[in-house]
Amino acid sequence: MKATHIEHIGIAVKSIEESIPYYENVLGLKCYNIEEVADQKVKTAFFMIGQTKIELLESTDPEGTIAKFIENKGEGVHHIAFAVDSVADALADAESQGIRLIDKAPRSGAEGLKIAFLHPKSTKGVLTELCQK
Ligand code: ZN
Repeated sequence: MKATHIEHIGIAVKSIEESIPYYENVLGLKCYNIEEVADQKVKTAFFMIGQTKIELLESTDPEGTIAKFIENKGEGVHHIAFAVDSVADALADAESQGIRLIDKAPRSGAEGLKIAFLHPKSTKGVLTELCQK
């Protein structure tokens, strides 16, 4: 595969509402979208910086993966998302190189993107998302 840029950085927060002022007032970014992704049990808030987004993730379920992440590690960087031309092709390519996949096939993420995750155990500790417009 050829990742073209960092599509977004996913950051786990306890509360989107309480986190937005940091990004808006301190960093001078503007939250342009808040969206719930029901099947991932998260509410997301987006900021644009260059061609990269910051994606804040708040759990909507105490058993959700973001809630568990915060429980174990606290708030902070959760994943890095790379833009690729085709998530399906990128997954096949990664798998052929021995990378463990969390998603065997692309699924829909926030903002209408096709997404899939690679397992941090085979990506040097970074939960890696692949995104396609
Ligand atoms: Zn993401």
